[in-house]
Parts: sequence; structure tokens; C-alpha cells
Amino acid sequence: ATMPPLLSAIANAGRHGVLVKSAVVMEQLGQVQAVALDKTGTLTEGTPRVTETRPLPGSGLTEDALLALAAAAEHPSEHPLARAIVDAARARGLRLAVAEDFTSAPGVGVTATVHGAVVAVGAPARLLDGATDAASADARELTATLEDDGSTAVLVRRAGVPVGVLGIADRLRVDAAATVARLGALTGQTPILVTGDNPRAAARLAAEVGITDVRAGLLPQDKVAAVTEQEQAGRRTLVVGDGVNDAPALAAAHTGVAMGRAGSDLALETADAVVVRDELAAVPTVVALSRRARRLVV
Ligand code: ADP
Ligand code: MG
Repeated sequence: ATMPPLLSAIANAGRHGVLVKSAVVMEQLGQVQAVALDKTGTLTEGTPRVTETRPLPGSGLTEDALLALAAAAEHPSEHPLARAIVDAARARGLRLAVAEDFTSAPGVGVTATVHGAVVAVGAPARLLDGATDAASADARELTATLEDDGSTAVLVRRAGVPVGVLGIADRLRVDAAATVARLGALTGQTPILVTGDNPRAAARLAAEVGITDVRAGLLPQDKVAAVTEQEQAGRRTLVVGDGVNDAPALAAAHTGVAMGRAGSDLALETADAVVVRDELAAVPTVVALSRRARRLVV
């Protein structure tokens, strides 16, 4: 027997490394009219590395002590930045203290108690918000320098006081620019960037891949709002993301696609399709496969 077109399209998508969860999803992929792309782990490889370790002057911490403190707090987190920090500490042979009372806030960072002090590690803009003390001013300056270089700055705070900033850098995927161009050609509209990262790093990366509509500093619910805005403008929206912070937007989108290799479990479960082979270029490929299959169905 010959396979129905949507089923052979699913098989074909599988050969391109994309797991499409149902025939309905296979059909929906070809209907999208707008695309929203996450940055970290989606347009970038998602294996960021710590490139700068900067204790603040008044902290009394060495570079190693700062890194060990941050890594202890980040240890339970599955965020790519957390993994970068823990890996950097391990690579330097640092011993990590056991953290207690771990909490994480998607798009913001983590907190944990380390050696009896509450340690927060996360987005400088959020952790420094409104603070006017000298350490916060130093931290802000350091953050701006690192972000101008295109790095993601991560603030480390102990007992309410900023003690240092880490610079973390990630590589753009080799197929990022080509994928943006191809999705733009398929939908008639250049994809937009939706990221929790800082506006400076976001703008720099967007320019490299040909994106002009950049939404930075977003919390998970802000990503949902960006999707809703597209949908209300009458555009069925495809969201591509990898993180826990992307899960609500993946659910709200007409079609959600998760990057599988480094993707969080929640993103993979929420998404309608998963890029298993870690090639971003497979996303426009499955959109095109869907269009072809739908022409055969109708
Ligand atoms: P993106 O949307 O680009 O994938 P995220 O929403 O995952 O980025 O993260 C946005 C920002 O929140 C990060 O750039 C970082 O500043 C902060 N952040 C989130 N989780 C963590 C964490 N575990 N450790 C440090 N910073 C974090
Ligand atoms: Mg991400």
C-alpha cells in the first residue's frame, strides 16, 4: 500500500532528524506565517563557556572562590549557563560546597544557601534592579563591558551584596543565518528574536543572522505575549526554543518546535515537534515538507 502523504512526510521529517509528534502537527507546520526564535540554545549552539571571572574589589573573593560559589548554587540547575559555570569550576578542579534550599526563576536565575549565606546567580539587570550601593555600581559597569563584547554577563550575589560577575559566551550555530533567511522566504516575514538575555548581546547576535525585530530581557510570559501579538495580527506562529523558559510560548504557539540535544524535558514534552539531530536548518525543511504533503492531500 502507498502511505498517506502526511505519514510519509512524518517519515521524511524523521530522516531529516525531526520528530513530528502527529499527522495534525505535520499538517500545521506548513501553515505557519510567522516565526519566533529563541536565542540561547536555539540560534546559538547552547554550549556556552565561562570566558571571564571577575570578583568585585570589595568582595574579598579570588577568581576561583567566586566561580566555586556560583557553581555550588547552580549545581542543581539544568540551564545552559548553569552547566557552563559548573563545568568551568570542575575544569579548574574546584571543590563545590553543598547548596541547600535551591530555587530557580526562569529568565532570571537561581538562589541557594551556600555555607549559610543566600547566594543568587543570574541576570544582572534583574538582580541589580534599583540598587544604588557601590558594589552594585561596580557590577553594573563590569556587566556593560562584558555585554558590549557580546557576552552574557551573570551576576553573583551573596547575602544581598554583589560579589562578582561572570562573562559567558556561546557560539552562533553554523546554519543560523541560512535558517533565518529560509524561514523568512517560506513565510514572507523575517523571523523575530525572543530572548531572556540582555538587549546588547541580543542585538549583536540578531545583526549577525539578519533579524531586525528583537525582543530582549523577556520572561517566559513575555515570550507568550510576543506570540499572542503575532497570532492576533492574524499570523499563525511557529516558535522554536529549547528552555524551560520557552515552554509556555511553545504551548501558546500555533506550532512549537524544540531543539532536542540540549533542550529541557519540559520544552521537549510541550513542543509539537523535536529537532533530534540538532540541526536548526531542519526546521525550514520540515515546513517545506508539510507544504508539499498538504498539496498532495488537498
Ligand atoms: P534565552 O531566552 O536566550 O534562552 P533564558 O531566558 O534562558 O535565555 O535566560 C535569560 C537570562 O536569564 C540569561 O541570559 C541569564 O541572565 C538569566 N538566567 C536564567 N537562568 C539562569 C541561571 N540558571 N543562571 C544564571 N543566569 C540565568
Ligand atoms: Mg534558550
